Amino acid sequence: MIRPDISVALPVFNEVENLDELNERLQRVLNAASRTWEIVYVDDGSSDASFEKMAAFARQDPRVRALRFSRNFGHQMALTAGVDAARGRIVAVMDADLQDPPELLSEMLKKVDEGYEVVYAQRSKREGESAFKLWTAHVFYRLLKRWTNVDIPVDVGDFRLMGPRAVAAFRRLRERHRFIRGMTAWVGFRQVGVEYVRPARARGETKYPLRKMLRFALDGLTSFSHVPLQLATWLGFAVSFFAFLYILVVLALWILKINVPGWTTLMVFVLLLGGVQLTVIGVLGEYLGRIYDEVKGRPLYLVAEEVGGITAPSPDVDVTLE
Ligand code: UDP
Ligand code: MG
Repeated sequence: MIRPDISVALPVFNEVENLDELNERLQRVLNAASRTWEIVYVDDGSSDASFEKMAAFARQDPRVRALRFSRNFGHQMALTAGVDAARGRIVAVMDADLQDPPELLSEMLKKVDEGYEVVYAQRSKREGESAFKLWTAHVFYRLLKRWTNVDIPVDVGDFRLMGPRAVAAFRRLRERHRFIRGMTAWVGFRQVGVEYVRPARARGETKYPLRKMLRFALDGLTSFSHVPLQLATWLGFAVSFFAFLYILVVLALWILKINVPGWTTLMVFVLLLGGVQLTVIGVLGEYLGRIYDEVKGRPLYLVAEEVGGITAPSPDVDVTLE
């Protein structure tokens, strides 16, 4: 088996109108870098002709491979499958909608040559995103930074290059709720960012509706922080403290024999405490559900078909693959 210098792994979900330009620009960049390469497309259960298109690329050029999932497993799983299947010494991961410009790869490759194990692309500016997305992303990344021990860089997506040691380490992380930008920070080694202006998606619509984005943000928070769980403790302390003060007030009123009706106060406390308790139970539920998912130990994804690869489809690409 020939091992290319670099593999580029791309998750694809209904991106048929972007694939021609993507494939062309990628190959141009990789050829110019004068290294041996392979491109691994992972079709995440597209309903358009994405897989047919990438399979056609793969049949034309042995350096291109196309994997198809048995259904939609999500962006983070498709990315994982791409890294698992990659045979290159260095592995790059990037989106297929041209928001991660292939041209940046040459600059990122230089950093790997300098000895960095993880080179991530850091967006200095984002074009064509709604003010809402920009603001929520801004707040989220800063919150995450404060609440975690892992040094997750801010304003960084999944566009990155990993050297051999980072790739080997990443493949050993088999958790189910994956926040890949955090996981690649967790592996450590020498890491560096390269700044770029993130262009708008070339064609088509975002495949990340608000619902998926919220889930993803929660996965990030819960996989790298226990702060939400500990919040219950702090809330408990705070509420107990005020309750204690109020008990003194109530006792004083009782001693002074001032008879207050007190219905309003009672309602306020009952509602407040009910709200706090339900919120805390909800937080517990978020963690519990994730524990349940992990305990089931299902494979992360299923590959239905592979074109241009070596072997027949395997249920979960061998993770011991060097
Ligand atoms: N994607 C995927 N599976 C999904 C959703 C998205 O493989 O369920 C891919 C998609 O084709 C793209 C990348 O993940 O290559 C990022 O998605 P998108 O550009 O829609 O996200 P955004 O940039 O809007 O956050
Ligand atoms: Mg995008």
